[in-house]
Amino acid sequence: MPTAPWLESDVSLKALNTFGLPAVARRLVRIRSDADVRRLLDAPETGRMARLVLGGGSNLVLTRDIDELVLKVEVDGIRLVEERSDAYIVEAGAGVTWHDLVAHTIEQGWPGLENLALIPGTVGAAPVQNIGAYGLEVADRFDELDGVDLVTGRGVTLSKRLCLFGYRDSVFKGVLAGKTVITRVRFRLPRPWTPVLGYLELERKVAETGISDPTPRQVFDWICAIRRAKLPDPTRIGNAGSFFKNPVVTEDQCRDIIGRDPHVVHYPMPDGSFKLAAGWLIEACGWKGKSIGRAGVYEKQALVLVNRGDAIGAEVVTLARAIQESVYGRFGIRLEPEPVVL
Ligand SMILES: Cc1cc2nc3c(=O)[nH]c(=O)nc-3n(C[C@H](O)[C@H](O)[C@H](O)COP(=O)(O)OP(=O)(O)OC[C@H]3O[C@@H](n4cnc5c(N)ncnc54)[C@H](O)[C@@H]3O)c2cc1C
Repeated sequence: MPTAPWLESDVSLKALNTFGLPAVARRLVRIRSDADVRRLLDAPETGRMARLVLGGGSNLVLTRDIDELVLKVEVDGIRLVEERSDAYIVEAGAGVTWHDLVAHTIEQGWPGLENLALIPGTVGAAPVQNIGAYGLEVADRFDELDGVDLVTGRGVTLSKRLCLFGYRDSVFKGVLAGKTVITRVRFRLPRPWTPVLGYLELERKVAETGISDPTPRQVFDWICAIRRAKLPDPTRIGNAGSFFKNPVVTEDQCRDIIGRDPHVVHYPMPDGSFKLAAGWLIEACGWKGKSIGRAGVYEKQALVLVNRGDAIGAEVVTLARAIQESVYGRFGIRLEPEPVVL
């Protein structure tokens, strides 16, 4: 059967995942519109293939070549949909680079996303794990999204309620996992703008600079500076950001752990549970700066696993498992990986 011109074969994914792990996509198609999705669903050579949606590859650990049809999402465009008295509604294509959206909204005077500056990846992936940082989650600024059902080819629009957002979680990691490709996301940026400064490192910036009422641009710059000082730049050192979720425990469990180690870093949650700093647990087990094979634990932040050069996915997984075992052995807590392991 002749191959459709829009179907690419044997595409290296090494430059398409921020860990820089080697893997090949047997078949890859670029999605620039909803119609592109319908075309591949209707085509005889791709209609029945299993599929994998790929954004910026910044939340992936690739341990194998990909036999599924890779849908590389490249839907472009940012526009102001509506200027209401209480909010700006802004829409972005799922293929837009997340940080470019944040920077663009600040430049245009539509603030509200600044705490999420510099998070790698695409707009379309942001709702999938409800990205969050520095006291803000995408769910806090989300309006609705459009996608295409990968079974029926029908267009769908999902409200915030239907997305079932949770901590690094959404319906796209649950019942809709692998079933929908998100093509556009709309954000609700509240007016008047108020800065979100409750996070410790931002409080420090307020104290250091003496600026207690920063502009959106100042908060954006602070976040970029904080992140650059602490996280490895994936263009230089391969990584997927935080490798484990911060575990959430009950008050009794938290008390028990504090009993064993009074220095454990913990944050009370509104529902009475406690979030523990996974990076602290990993560091307490002595992993900071250590390596297994060519995969390592970042020297400045134990929550980040890095590619020390030509690592393969299996080495990252071996290191992650060893860390999970030691944290479980010492604290009785099972760390859950944040990235998708394939
Ligand atoms: C240095 C670094 C720092 C990071 N910091 C943070 C942080 O502070 N907070 C945070 O939350 N995350 C952080 N991350 C993780 C990552 O940036 C986010 O998870 C990001 O949203 C992933 O986007 P992506 O486009 O790269 O998704 P990918 O890695 O390509 O895909 C991730 C998952 O989303 C699915 N997916 C992607 N696009 C779509 C789509 N259009 N429709 C349906 N499903 C889709 C994929 O199938 C896959 O399951 C960091 C990563 C790095 C490397």
